[in-house]
Amino acid sequence: MLLTHLHFDHCGGSIIREGERFVPAFKNATYWSNEYHWRWATKPNPREKASFLTENILPIEESGQLKFVKIGRRSAEENIYLRNILPNIDAFMVNGHTDAMMIPHMQYKGRTIAFMADLLPSVHHIPLAWVMAYDTRPLLSMAEKQDFLGSAADENIVLFFEHDAHNQCATVERTEKGSGLKETFPLSAL
Ligand SMILES: [Zn+2]
Repeated sequence: MLLTHLHFDHCGGSIIREGERFVPAFKNATYWSNEYHWRWATKPNPREKASFLTENILPIEESGQLKFVKIGRRSAEENIYLRNILPNIDAFMVNGHTDAMMIPHMQYKGRTIAFMADLLPSVHHIPLAWVMAYDTRPLLSMAEKQDFLGSAADENIVLFFEHDAHNQCATVERTEKGSGLKETFPLSAL
């Protein structure tokens, strides 16, 4: 179980209530986060405090099922592309939405699929200026989107959306303004 970040709507399903206790919903899983984001989420700033619910997060650590992917040194102003954080999974680590969010890239049927989490929640967030009000560093989000969309266009990466009610996947292409939507399709079309 790879947790892109620990906002409640991206990790709440990790934990269930068993009587009075909160326990992992997936008893045999290893839950992967990273040390930078874990620290950020467990000592939250006032802006994000309401999005990091201790009852979603702390039981993962208490269960002994939590591990951190290896990152090494980094600056919070810099995005990093991490190779093989887990077998067959790379990740683009970004800091505009929240600190050290991971956007996993995996191989599927000969294509690279990027699980967009909150870097690009929906198709409508592809235009650079459309960043979320929730982002902690909106200007950084815009730069990270620009970086990601450039390589997504060049490498024909499939974007898989977590927050789009109508579109599961999309590809993007280079345009005069940078990058724009090419086509949308369901995952089953791959
Ligand atoms: Zn989020």
